[in-house]
Amino acid sequence: MSGKHSIKKYVPITSFISTVITIIVLYLTKIPNPNIILITLIVYFTFLGGYISGAISCLLTITYSLVFFSSSGHLLMYSPNNWKRVLISCIFIPIMILIVGSLKNDLLKKTRDLELINETLSFSSNHDFLTGIHNRRYFDEAITKEWFRAIRDQKPVSIIMVDIDYFKKFNDTYGHNTGDYCLKEVAKALIKETKRAGDVSARFGGEEFAVILPNTNLEGARYIAENIRKSVEDLKIRFESSLVCDYLTVSVGLATMVPAKNSSYFELLNNADAALYIAKENGRNRVEMGSTMFPRL
Ligand code: GH3
Ligand code: MG
Ligand code: MG
Repeated sequence: MSGKHSIKKYVPITSFISTVITIIVLYLTKIPNPNIILITLIVYFTFLGGYISGAISCLLTITYSLVFFSSSGHLLMYSPNNWKRVLISCIFIPIMILIVGSLKNDLLKKTRDLELINETLSFSSNHDFLTGIHNRRYFDEAITKEWFRAIRDQKPVSIIMVDIDYFKKFNDTYGHNTGDYCLKEVAKALIKETKRAGDVSARFGGEEFAVILPNTNLEGARYIAENIRKSVEDLKIRFESSLVCDYLTVSVGLATMVPAKNSSYFELLNNADAALYIAKENGRNRVEMGSTMFPRL
């Protein structure tokens, strides 16, 4: 008993020394976990030894790689008055826990790096490299999903196809870099004009873009399509050799369907494409609607 009492007076000092050692080592080794220092200090000043602190130290060490050094005091309290124990408490245990903490930090860093790589991979598999908007792959996935939802809910789904007018001529006149700039600007215009959460704007291929408007009827789709056309015109990108006007323009085709059971979205896509063709035929820089189908309910 007297051994316990006499050793008790070392508890705060050993805890303190080991905490200081740890903080110095943490600082020198740059282990990237500032929480360690903060929580070590808080817990140190709160408990200063005892079973509760021992339990908390174990918990925190496991959970956060924390080094809680009143546990060294805790060890001393229930140990013989022995300087080897003091050394173990002050130096060996902190260093062991530091090694474990640093390994765990290393592991956490590697996990974070892997997560980042995964995010980057997933982003680039769904997005177009040049314009940053969704790509054809994502478009196909999204339309399939929306199509089945529309069949279930018997709600309309619309597709808008957007194609830059005389873009080959534009590239020939101003060069491919300026052409790429246009593609980015048109993509931005699409994003600006499609604001609902479920709307999907994608680069369909080359200088062609496509928009999915779930739960949107013909009138709604026409409104968005006209806004897109106007938005591109308002960019006022010089295109003097264009046969439409002095600026870059787009032609737009759209179609709407409430899909029947067992139908395919290809029909909707073909209708929107046919409308785009008509827009080109009718002079470009305009919106045309494809045949719109509603099943008999
Ligand atoms: P239309 O009005 O009938 O659509 O004529 P157009 O010249 O736009 O159509 P066409 O299909 O003849 O040419 C498309 C051009 O789009 C060809 C190519 O130079 C250009 N293009 C496709 N992808 C890219 C790209 O990634 N960057 C650039 N700069 N141009 C591209
Ligand atoms: Mg074109
Ligand atoms: Mg085209």
